[in-house]
Amino acid sequence: MSDDLRCDLLLTNARYLSPDMDIVSGKAIAVREGRILSITDQDGCPCRADAVLDGKDLLWMPGLVDGHLHTSQQLLRGRLLDEKPVIWKRVNVPFESRLDEESSRLSALLAAMEMISCGTTGFVDAGGKYPEIYAQVYAAAGLRGRLSVMTNDNPLCPGSLRAPSVPAAVERLRRMKEALGGLLKPIYSVTTPTAVSEDLLRAVFEAAAADGVPVETHMNEYAGEVTDFIERYGKRPFVWLEDEGLLRAPMTAPHCIFLSQEEMAVMARRRVRVIHCPFSNCGKGVPPAPQLLAAGVSVGLGTDGSAHGGLDLFREMRLFRGVMNVTRGVETADSSIMPAETLLKMATQGGAAALMEPGLGLIQPGAPADLIAVDAGAPHLWPTQNLVHTLVESASGADVRHSVVNGKLLMKDRELLTIDADRVRREAERLFEKQPWLRSWK
Ligand SMILES: [Zn+2]
Repeated sequence: MSDDLRCDLLLTNARYLSPDMDIVSGKAIAVREGRILSITDQDGCPCRADAVLDGKDLLWMPGLVDGHLHTSQQLLRGRLLDEKPVIWKRVNVPFESRLDEESSRLSALLAAMEMISCGTTGFVDAGGKYPEIYAQVYAAAGLRGRLSVMTNDNPLCPGSLRAPSVPAAVERLRRMKEALGGLLKPIYSVTTPTAVSEDLLRAVFEAAAADGVPVETHMNEYAGEVTDFIERYGKRPFVWLEDEGLLRAPMTAPHCIFLSQEEMAVMARRRVRVIHCPFSNCGKGVPPAPQLLAAGVSVGLGTDGSAHGGLDLFREMRLFRGVMNVTRGVETADSSIMPAETLLKMATQGGAAALMEPGLGLIQPGAPADLIAVDAGAPHLWPTQNLVHTLVESASGADVRHSVVNGKLLMKDRELLTIDADRVRREAERLFEKQPWLRSWK
């Protein structure tokens, strides 16, 4: 057989979601060396592979990308639902400050299991104490992502998370950058602009630009944080960053709920990658997503971590559809204020933009082969008059049957292939016995 015809993985009789959100049927998708080699009619496909997955009853779609999660809050699941704001200062950061290497490793293992199980193939982590440990776990799991140290020099920040100095914070980010490789790349991070010193904020953004690394920080998440910023700097956050020349590195901005027209113009001009976190944001406000999209800003979705209701981005799409209809659609009698196609683009292409991997989030020749197969024959998904609508209205992470990242199968018929789920569960039970505070954080 000619080398041209050989591939690593062949998806036969494939039905898939095209970059324009059309459903295309009767194709063969060949994957080689981590990328989609070709998409041909099934009948005329010349490719052969040892690994073949038949597409009966399946819909292949780009893997979902969680544009904002916190690996270090994986063990806080169930703790935050009724908590009063502002949770990250009172609950999350103190919890994270107590994590050791063992609990951090377990957090990443559990997050990797959850992501793969619900169709997430890529992620941007907000940063933790031990990104190198996260990297070991995520590399073995086969996921694609960006990792960080979340820098903070606030005197009120617990000591184990507080940077001893601005140069030390930058040096720590650079050490992390050197330790990453393969599918895991760096992103520099600041907790939130009002939590840190001006020196640290400037230094991290300048280091990102100098090192060619993207930068992230929680932006405009609480109305109070925006007014605090204005009080301190005299301008709104994005306007100040722009006027100070700090928006030179590609920026990922989680949340972005409270924005002015001027800020949205800056964000469009600087190609800021916005990540809305619908469930997490429900207690804070409703972001101006339609206006951002109209302004040409890239918008993706994130979960804000497992502590905000889990890592299922199908759930986030459906919730965001409801939030947008109630808050923006009803007042204008526009029931398609946030169409299913747009939501699916957010959960795939929007998150992929934050990973900055060309072609990611698109099923087309040459694109990275990060794909998931949804069981479209399930009773709650079939029959349907519009599968794209049904994906948003009715699908969940539990409907994902196969997961492929960089051409490698991570889950087949819902069995995890890169993580021993039973062993992780046993390790977790042992750790909870040793460190009972992990399950009852006050
Ligand atoms: Zn967050």
